[in-house]
Amino acid sequence: MSAVRTVLGDVAPGRLGVVDAHDHLFLSTPRLPGQELHSVPAARAELAAFREQGGGTVVQWTPYGLGRRAADLPPLSRETGVHLVAATGLHQAAHYDDGTLARLRGGLAAVFVAELTEGIGTSGVRAGLIKVAGGFHTLDAHARWTMSAAAEAHHATGAPVAVHLELGTAALDVLDLLCGELAVAPHRVILGHLNRFPDAVLHRQAAESGCYLAFDGPSPAHHATDWRMPDVVRALADAGHGDRLLLGGDTTTAGARSVNGGPGMPYLLRRVRPRLEAALGRDLVRRVLTENPGRAFAVDWR
Ligand SMILES: [Zn+2]
Repeated sequence: MSAVRTVLGDVAPGRLGVVDAHDHLFLSTPRLPGQELHSVPAARAELAAFREQGGGTVVQWTPYGLGRRAADLPPLSRETGVHLVAATGLHQAAHYDDGTLARLRGGLAAVFVAELTEGIGTSGVRAGLIKVAGGFHTLDAHARWTMSAAAEAHHATGAPVAVHLELGTAALDVLDLLCGELAVAPHRVILGHLNRFPDAVLHRQAAESGCYLAFDGPSPAHHATDWRMPDVVRALADAGHGDRLLLGGDTTTAGARSVNGGPGMPYLLRRVRPRLEAALGRDLVRRVLTENPGRAFAVDWR
């Protein structure tokens, strides 16, 4: 049976409720010093605030080695009543020290497979997706290495591959590599951060492959493009790709959390949802928040 792999076990896609399809409860990276998401009480409060707005599921895109705190996820899910999905995968090289990358060099796909099927570290918590990252308008050797490993792990398990597009770019390069050379079925690929590069033609070209397109934010770093999101999402829906849209909050810093005065996870439902309802209509927004993520993340696990 097709199921979404949550931190409490496999769940039927129809039971997810309203889904934040790209976010982070925990994230620590040298690229964001002093802004780490590592507080369990803050994560719990953020989830409760999301729940209060009607949220049902949060899909986390925090990959290997970036402070996932996997063992803390099942109790957080139980306490708040929000389904949580954890990720395996690897971010850009700049997020890791050389020793970590050298250790992974010989067996990255095996690490991904183990985290999807056995669990992350000793937590027993299994990941439900593979997160990787492209570069700015290009794919460097690190991106090609991690995407090759992600494709291998996808073929072994069925897991979806979620891609951080640097500033929303290189979408077609990612699709050429993953779905061309590496033979990942397009509907198993989720492109993230497209709102950061609001080129409606490019979005449509990407959507024509059959992949999922995730729009996530807002962020002070992407304020210049975030406001164009309703228009580009509307253009995709008008072109017949409404069934491929996903929405997320992508909270990456402590200051962005609602419990610390930022927009945080609740903002997706408090403000983004009604704004998109004005652009797309209520029924499509409901499907984007419930049915689309069910299809994007549900897998016949192997
Ligand atoms: Zn993210």
